[in-house]
Amino acid sequence: MSRIAYVNGSYVLHRDAMVHIEDRGYQFADGVYEVCEVFRGALIDEKRHFERLAFSLAELQIAAPLRAGALAVVVREVMARNRIKNGFIYVQVTRGVAPRDHVFPQKPVRPSLVVTARQVDPDKSEISARMGINVIAIPDLRWKRVDIKSIALLPNVLARQHAREHGAYEAWLIDSEGMVTEGAASNAWIVSEAGSIVTRQIDHSILRGITRTTLIEIIAAYGLKLEERKFSLEEAFAAREAFITGATTLIMPVVRIDGQLIGTGAPGPVATKFRAIFHDTAARSS
Ligand code: PLP
Repeated sequence: MSRIAYVNGSYVLHRDAMVHIEDRGYQFADGVYEVCEVFRGALIDEKRHFERLAFSLAELQIAAPLRAGALAVVVREVMARNRIKNGFIYVQVTRGVAPRDHVFPQKPVRPSLVVTARQVDPDKSEISARMGINVIAIPDLRWKRVDIKSIALLPNVLARQHAREHGAYEAWLIDSEGMVTEGAASNAWIVSEAGSIVTRQIDHSILRGITRTTLIEIIAAYGLKLEERKFSLEEAFAAREAFITGATTLIMPVVRIDGQLIGTGAPGPVATKFRAIFHDTAARSS
């Protein structure tokens, strides 16, 4: 079966899908994106992902390419045409095509919209979760507005590459005070020595992960203690357990940071438990 992508109003073969060389996404990384999980044919936390897309667009003064209802139709059409049961939907919006100039186009141009889908085997992620992943720490070199889900991902790309070259799946980014901000493509969590679940507070220094938001609701429903605050790498080394969250990884246990075993060195009970119930709690829409 051929993969199909949506590009600016047309459904095209993925291998033929193209954007203009003067698209500002290509020229300046002047755009934003969203990745939403598809699980058993349903979109997970769709509303929150599209609310965050609207936030990212508004922060960069990019017009919405379609109204919310129309975008939801396109997303479903891409899912259907690619027969996605389990996988991801990727939505990217850029400011559009205009002669290269750092300043926004004088005459408003139509934002570019691309929607693609990818099938994945959910068992593969389960195998990683049973083993737990390795993380490596690296300085956070990103700009000061990473709460916007921008397509400018070069520091994240370099961090993930560094992780890969050092036998780790994810990189944890460390700010100038030695505190963990988040992962290169995930939010970072620990269960402290005292047993509190800790993740960094929301501000401009991290992305407000949708998986993070949903997990916070689950933690509250279970009456467990959550601390939204900064934590250092040293605190993480001494933690009972550590994990990451993201639409592509869900809740993924971390068993090693910079080569040091965390807790017992096996996936911790908090991450394992919440991973198991995550899809039953998150909002599903089909
Ligand atoms: N932080 C960063 C930098 C990310 O790129 C992502 C996901 O791509 C996340 C956090 C997790 O966000 P979400 O749970 O919405 O996937």
